[in-house]
Amino acid sequence: MTLTSRRVDLVVSNSTEILSQLRWPGFRHLALRKRVADSAAGVIRMLAEAVPDAVILESRLPDGDAFALCEHMRLNLGLTALPVVIIVPAALSHLMRSAIASSGCDEVLSLPLHRGQLYHVLAARLGLPTRCHHRVRVQAPLAIRSASYELEGEAWDLSANGARIRLTQPFVGESSIQVRMDLGAGRELVQEASVVWHKPHLKGAELGIEFVGVTEEAARLINALVTWRLEQRETLQWVTFHRNLTDQASFEGLAQQLGDRVVFDLRHVRLINSIGLAIWIRFLREIPDHVAYRFAHCSVAFCTQASCAPTVLGRGSVDSFFAPYICPACDQEIEKELEADPFTGVEAPEPPRFTCAGCGVDLLFDDLPERYFLFLSNR
Ligand SMILES: [Zn+2]
Repeated sequence: MTLTSRRVDLVVSNSTEILSQLRWPGFRHLALRKRVADSAAGVIRMLAEAVPDAVILESRLPDGDAFALCEHMRLNLGLTALPVVIIVPAALSHLMRSAIASSGCDEVLSLPLHRGQLYHVLAARLGLPTRCHHRVRVQAPLAIRSASYELEGEAWDLSANGARIRLTQPFVGESSIQVRMDLGAGRELVQEASVVWHKPHLKGAELGIEFVGVTEEAARLINALVTWRLEQRETLQWVTFHRNLTDQASFEGLAQQLGDRVVFDLRHVRLINSIGLAIWIRFLREIPDHVAYRFAHCSVAFCTQASCAPTVLGRGSVDSFFAPYICPACDQEIEKELEADPFTGVEAPEPPRFTCAGCGVDLLFDDLPERYFLFLSNR
């Protein structure tokens, strides 16, 4: 089955940064029409031909600046609702700050852009499809107690609001239940819940539940349960983070459980926002001095942040990480896992070459190497 691609018409200024963002895989599933303007006058001409879905501009244009152009669009061309995104250099001048405020533009993004950043900004404005990285499967052993029985299950999409639960045994419709969650280290949380829906699934059942009367403490514990999982692997403690680092992330109770040698596994962290990042950095600062920690299987999102801000790695170092590639022929985003060792201390690391397993074509590295690999020397 093929879905009709969503048509998106963009007017963009001629900038390598913008054009490279438009090659991000998300855009390839759209019927994208981009008109590239070399100047402010060119943008105005294109707007007169047809109003696009959005305009993306570099702040400096050969014949003017994007903020004045945006203001002109708002005031003189009557394009008050047209989404306008302006890309600015990392350092904003004082003049630019006041220009942003008066221009009426919708978003200002500063360089360097993260992978797919422009897509996500447009997706939010235009209602474009985004791949869902939010599904969290937590194999939290779960005991369901109702008046008549006790069941074992697994939680999916667990949050402080509720969960979807898969049971290995059938469920006989009961509207309120008690859920006992194993928090590790001998702790557990008992939470009242109401069953919103249920249906048979294989030999058991699936149910959607809503937690009732969740205290702040319980919400923090549940969020922590969803954010990380601690296991002992021989002489190491292995902590897997299985949730995006957003405002929902919680490291409650983790720092205190850490022993001398810890590995943080970050492969599932696909998205990091500024609040999540602040929570993460606060967590690293809480870790007692005797704990030696390292990072393994670092996701692209994590590496990107670590390259921007060394505090993301605290005093740990990276053992292995994922690197972003694309296959130009299959139109696919492919991540390759690399060991950090060969890159450490290397002046200008080159991404290793790979070919596509599907078609044999050489994969392209999907970022600027000098920017992406910075986290390996950024310390
Ligand atoms: Zn291919």
